[in-house]
Amino acid sequence: MQQTDVLIVGGGPSGASAALSLLNYSTCDVTIVEQSDFSQTRVGEHVSSSIFDLIHYLQLNKSDFEKDSFIPSFASKTYWGSDEVSTTNAIFTTDEATFQMDREKFDFKLIEVAAKRGATIYPRTKCVAYTQLEDKTWQVSLTHPSEGKFIIKANYLVDATGRESNVCRKVNVPSKKIDSLMGIGLFLELGNNSKKFEQTLESVELGWWYAACLPNNKMVMTLFTDADIISEHKLHQLESWNQILQKSKHIKHLIHDARALSDKLWVRNAQTQLCDPRSIERFVAIGDAAVSFDPISSMGIGFSISSACFAAKHIANELEENRSTIDVLQEDIIQNFNHYLKIRAEYYQMEKRWPSSKFWQRRASFN
Ligand SMILES: Cc1cc2nc3c(=O)[nH]c(=O)nc-3n(C[C@H](O)[C@H](O)[C@H](O)COP(=O)(O)OP(=O)(O)OC[C@H]3O[C@@H](n4cnc5c(N)ncnc54)[C@H](O)[C@@H]3O)c2cc1C
Repeated sequence: MQQTDVLIVGGGPSGASAALSLLNYSTCDVTIVEQSDFSQTRVGEHVSSSIFDLIHYLQLNKSDFEKDSFIPSFASKTYWGSDEVSTTNAIFTTDEATFQMDREKFDFKLIEVAAKRGATIYPRTKCVAYTQLEDKTWQVSLTHPSEGKFIIKANYLVDATGRESNVCRKVNVPSKKIDSLMGIGLFLELGNNSKKFEQTLESVELGWWYAACLPNNKMVMTLFTDADIISEHKLHQLESWNQILQKSKHIKHLIHDARALSDKLWVRNAQTQLCDPRSIERFVAIGDAAVSFDPISSMGIGFSISSACFAAKHIANELEENRSTIDVLQEDIIQNFNHYLKIRAEYYQMEKRWPSSKFWQRRASFN
């Protein structure tokens, strides 16, 4: 049976950052299990400049990332609450520079450096069952398409599986789901006559649209709405999605002369949710698995890294000094989550144009 100090389930930004923090600042050895082969399309790319402080803490610099991993996006245009455009530097942070990242390059660099610094990584491997033994260590069952089933024993278990919170769900962590928001989108290549544009948001009756230019002459166009509205209007089908896009007043013009990079839309869970694993010892959730924020806040990637760095410190306290301090992290997370819910409610409640729309009615009653 294989053995590790810390078993991290999920190799996204939070899992890789937790591994890097542990490897940089503790003596713990680390294993990351990732179900994919790291080649899947990653979405979510708008970050504030504070991302560079976080990667600096991970002992990385902006220059360690491939060229064009980050492009500056100085302004964002919003058509929200009225047809008048409002231009700001970012949605919640008005005074910071922001960037659009190449998510594949960013996520891959983090995992590559974690491997170089000594993390053991199992790609294409899925964790399927978790048992906590009497001495509080974990026995985790895994499966790999060609290697088959095997077990890893760990002193500490970390859920970094993203919005699905797969480990939390399996070990029965209480959770609070606030909505059922989803993003349905398309990546496109800008054409010769396409103009570079500011990150743009437009609210519509069924939800809101988001478009942004990305590194390497690409752009993304996403519709955010609730899961039941997607089914009702068949919005996962390109034709219906396009019809709704054509009903927008402004954002539809941005795809003029751009070429879709796929004939299939991607669909992602974008719900707001909180997991509270305080009842389980030697276990922590980080990144989206701990709290998933509405993408309108652009808080997800920054929080994934910062929560991972803090969690790593608490894990080291417990494994190296036998001091359990992890509840401090969870209490901070809950406090920040409640603050975020307030700002989010205020932002959504600025839109009052569609009082009979299911999407906006649900958001009018948040507190
Ligand atoms: C449409 C959309 C737009 C977004 N836009 C932004 C944005 O502009 N700015 C921003 O900051 N954030 C944005 N976000 C949020 C951002 O993408 C996430 O916060 C970030 O990816 C979270 O990182 P993570 O490592 O916690 O989870 P993830 O990136 O989801 O990584 C989790 C990993 O765990 C793996 N995994 C899951 N289950 C298992 C298992 N059982 N065994 C092994 N591996 C497993 C998955 O394959 C995945 O690689 C957006 C999200 C969405 C959905």
